[in-house]
Amino acid sequence: MNKLPYLAGLLILAFSCAPKEEVIDYTKMSDEERLKAATEIAQSTIMVDGHVDLPYRMKVGGFTLQREILDVSVRTPDGNFDFPRAKEGGLDAPFMSIYIPAGNQKTPGASKALADSLIAMTERLATTFPDKFAMAYSPADIEANFAKGLISLPMGMENGAGIEDDLANVEYFYKKGIRYITLTHGTDNLIGDASYDTTGTYGGLSEYGEQVVAEMNRVGIMVDLSHVSDNTFRDALAITKVPIIASHSSVRKFTPGFERNMSDELIRAMAKNGGVMMINFGGSFIDSAYAAGSTKIREHLVNYMAENNLSRSDSAYRAYAAEYAAANNPFPTVQRVADHIDHVKNLVGIDYIGLGSDFDGVGDTLPTGLKDVSMFPNLIAELLKRGYSKEDIEKICYKNVFRVWNAVEEYAAAQKAG
Ligand SMILES: [Zn+2]
Repeated sequence: MNKLPYLAGLLILAFSCAPKEEVIDYTKMSDEERLKAATEIAQSTIMVDGHVDLPYRMKVGGFTLQREILDVSVRTPDGNFDFPRAKEGGLDAPFMSIYIPAGNQKTPGASKALADSLIAMTERLATTFPDKFAMAYSPADIEANFAKGLISLPMGMENGAGIEDDLANVEYFYKKGIRYITLTHGTDNLIGDASYDTTGTYGGLSEYGEQVVAEMNRVGIMVDLSHVSDNTFRDALAITKVPIIASHSSVRKFTPGFERNMSDELIRAMAKNGGVMMINFGGSFIDSAYAAGSTKIREHLVNYMAENNLSRSDSAYRAYAAEYAAANNPFPTVQRVADHIDHVKNLVGIDYIGLGSDFDGVGDTLPTGLKDVSMFPNLIAELLKRGYSKEDIEKICYKNVFRVWNAVEEYAAAQKAG
């Protein structure tokens, strides 16, 4: 008997019974098909954003008052974030930045008080619109909220000044729900040196800063090394017991001399530590030509205001400024953000990349195609075009940062059990 047809039949049977592994080649799709696929991925995948400055925008917009002057449960005409646009873009867990401007550091107690008020405001957003938003204190919370269609509001404190000079405040803020602390903001603080400050107060992390990092490890708060100087970055990496994050930093290779972004040396060190860097979308973070152009535009506009006796809030000025900037300093595009992601991937691999847009925090500098939270699918489509797989996208959207967060939680739990 000729066994060949029999074997062929068995083979066909075996293949048809095996679970179908769909290998989709996104690079072969038309742009339109690919954007549709990217939108589907954005909707079906948890998407975490490491840094959204909504709390401070709400503070400025008046959410602290009894009346909701700024209501982000509905579409808002300005800003980069609101519920409807987040839903469109598939954003599920924007880290709410509890942002403490460095000016508060001059007044003892002011930083902590501001942090408390911004945390309360974020909580109030969740309690006012429980069908839309929910607080989240762990990856498990985000997964549960995602299943219910709610947008999670995890919180990170931008500027360790909120801890003031009392180490006990680290645990205090953990209990308040803070899950990462950016060690510094714009200027050196009690914890260490900042990237924008040339003073070099400690030459890196201070002794108090070392205690703060150890205490953050102990209680389970992620160490965020965005905004710190290179020396503070190295010092913190050397002593942390768990992986770190950079909640909203991009690649310095594209912005030479801009210490706020991460050098290749620091990216390698971050990867060795098992951390994650979440790419900032701000125009000046992703493109040095745009950053230089912005500086020139600012100079021109300051003169224009003076010559025409206008102020920043005049509508005539604002219209002129927007038009002048657009004509003289074209925005980078969503492709530029993908370039940053490519660079990190090529340098250390896909496992160390996340998204940290800085939406609501970088003004009108955002790249074309990535102007607000509704446009995440454009970035995903660009990555698919460059050959990224769905699994790669999932890592960038949430798996990498969840890995770090879970490791931080597990270490803290072991300390408590210890
Ligand atoms: Zn920032």
